[in-house]
Amino acid sequence: MIEKHQFYIDGQWVDPREGRTHHVIDPSTEEPCAAISLGGQADTDAAVAAARAAFPGWMATPPAERIALLEKLLEIYKRRWDEMAQAISLEMGAPIDMAQSAQAGAGYGHLKNFVREGKAFAFERPLGEHAPNDRIIYEPIGVAAMITPWNWPMNQITLKFGAAVVAGCTMVLKPSEESPLNALLFAEMVDEAGFPPGVFNLVNGDGAGVGSQLSAHADVDIISFTGSTRAGIAISKNAADTLKKVHLELGGKGANLIFADADEKAVKRGVLHMMNNSGQSCNAPSRMIVERSVYDRTVEAAAEIAEKVAVGPASEEGKHIGPVVNETQFDKIQDLIQTGIDEGARLVAGGVGRPEGMNRGFYVRPTVFADVTHEMTIGREEIFGPVLSIMAFEDEADAVRLANDTEYGLTNYVQTGDPARANRLARQLRSGMVEMNGQSRAAGSPFGGMKRSGNGREGGVWGIEDFMEVKAVSGWTPDAD
Ligand code: NAD
Repeated sequence: MIEKHQFYIDGQWVDPREGRTHHVIDPSTEEPCAAISLGGQADTDAAVAAARAAFPGWMATPPAERIALLEKLLEIYKRRWDEMAQAISLEMGAPIDMAQSAQAGAGYGHLKNFVREGKAFAFERPLGEHAPNDRIIYEPIGVAAMITPWNWPMNQITLKFGAAVVAGCTMVLKPSEESPLNALLFAEMVDEAGFPPGVFNLVNGDGAGVGSQLSAHADVDIISFTGSTRAGIAISKNAADTLKKVHLELGGKGANLIFADADEKAVKRGVLHMMNNSGQSCNAPSRMIVERSVYDRTVEAAAEIAEKVAVGPASEEGKHIGPVVNETQFDKIQDLIQTGIDEGARLVAGGVGRPEGMNRGFYVRPTVFADVTHEMTIGREEIFGPVLSIMAFEDEADAVRLANDTEYGLTNYVQTGDPARANRLARQLRSGMVEMNGQSRAAGSPFGGMKRSGNGREGGVWGIEDFMEVKAVSGWTPDAD
């Protein structure tokens, strides 16, 4: 078993000051695969103090030097890519091929984008031609505490890390206790890249411990959180007394609007997107909302596609989906599938229990429900498993009404052959992102949500700005220094 008890504080690997052992469970086998330590207040304080002490020097470091360190990190990441994929696959169950390409690849892609965005970022800007003596200066907020989930772990860590480096913030990362190995490996890479001591610190811990201590800490200036809406609310309350900035990337219940004129691959694309990462994506298109005239055949096709989705261990190569992350998630998904049946949704694929022949591991059957309504629990709640809900719409206005009838607002999807309609819908859907006809967002595009899906944006110029203060200066003499 892997033993990784140390934390990374002030440029050193250090023993926990008050750690307790926590076992990381391999979801493919239900066996412990690693032991780490969960820190306490003294560990949190030490990491925050290191970040605080490093802040003035890091803030004063020219952006070009900070970005050069990111470039160095990219080289190291590329060299250790396989190790990263192995760590993610083992601890959270992503099948190894997918961990290699999408999971580890997301981290590399984000770091690369931040190098590009950082080089183009205007840290000082004129207010406008009307005010030649006014200057807008972007400067780092200060110490950033970053609390991340397990589902796309490197994706989320690098979205925060890359932006904070460009902005000039120092950092304390608390990764999910379900998936600490990839984060520990990332800290090794940061160390090797030569970031100054204290700029990046890592303390393992749980939400009630290190997570809450960071949220309440008087010396933390911003919490950048990705995770559940439940934890986002707790963090916001906990952070209120110190009035720190709280950046939240939370859950979702995305609609995928399928019109009768959608392309022939739209249904398959929607089902496979839902099942990808075993349904554990905040932007999963979990509500397929289908034009009435093509509803029956869409339900039939979706069921057929879901039945063909293979489920298997994370270590196995291939295109299957892996287990869900842990027993709690497994039980929650099973309960929700049963609730769907009890509340009258029509089960057309999958169902409760493990896939045939699988007795161990947190494997869930790819499941599709038809005739779902928003009165049903599965129509409202984020399931975070490979479970698709299908419902019908009557006309375009009904489609928009249904799509927006959720407390979430992260990503919505539109499938139609009518470009004018697609554009119209993009304006009306209340979500931070709208993806149409299978075209994914380009590099540098902002990721984030409205309503209960959160309040910030990650990636691109918006992600950098979220780690910055905006300073307005008057009486500025252009070209004086
Ligand atoms: P979670 O909220 O349980 O945990 C996320 C992180 O928060 C972990 O590090 C955990 O230790 C910590 N945490 C938990 N309670 C806390 C508290 N009270 N105070 C401080 N920290 C606390 O979420 P999860 O189960 O790890 O992840 C799944 C959730 O994340 C889903 O709801 C998903 O939609 C969401 N998510 C959102 C995005 C996005 O960008 N919008 C991306 C990925 C995942």
